Amino acid sequence: MNGAPNSPAGAAGLAVPRVVTPTVAIRDRVERFPVHRIYCVGRNFAEHAREMGAEPSRPSEPPVFFMKPADAVVADGATIAYPRGTSELHHEVELVVALGADHDGVLAAADALALVFGYAVGIDLTRRDLQARAKAKGLPWDVAKGFDQSAPISAITPVADGGHPHPDAVLALTVNERTVQRAPLADMIFSVPDVLHELSKLYDLRAGDLVFMGTPSGVGPLQPGDRFVAAVEGVAMLHGRIAG
Ligand code: MN
Repeated sequence: MNGAPNSPAGAAGLAVPRVVTPTVAIRDRVERFPVHRIYCVGRNFAEHAREMGAEPSRPSEPPVFFMKPADAVVADGATIAYPRGTSELHHEVELVVALGADHDGVLAAADALALVFGYAVGIDLTRRDLQARAKAKGLPWDVAKGFDQSAPISAITPVADGGHPHPDAVLALTVNERTVQRAPLADMIFSVPDVLHELSKLYDLRAGDLVFMGTPSGVGPLQPGDRFVAAVEGVAMLHGRIAG
């Protein structure tokens, strides 16, 4: 084999059609944000950890991380097919951090915000029945979390335009106009700098990475035909619908 696994095809060309880099809209800009990886934080709100029957993360322990594929992103305003393989699709509204620069090795929390390109709101769609089965057997969460269309996300508001969100900013989700999740960002156990610091202990961070920051309590089912509106107050808003 020649070269690194991710090296360009060069003159030899590609054996199958080129994979298209998924992208996310950027508020008030023509340019789009290319998605490299999607990292997610679990159990970052104490009340949500308790409603899932788990102990909240403690700052003395590393956060729980998992991933979704980059092409799981779904644009604002889309209709999402009810995923197969589940009868318990759940919503988890989350602040999403979009990285605008690379960092190799461990990143100090004090330097972390300089890496942030902008912020969005997203939903960590979850096949809760499959997650419960995986947890019971000590198996990985991939099929519960990393499925097609599992990452609806709003347009990204660049830090250059909107700054960093205020801790009092409210993260909220309505389903069919009823508020089901609502909490200030200050309720997160691990802050954005903490999460980027911890993530950098495990992975080299890259421009194009998205980080879903974890969900507050109130997770619950989405049914065919449901309409949702997710928001981080003053930062981003996302509309969507489950087909049916
Ligand atoms: Mn989540």
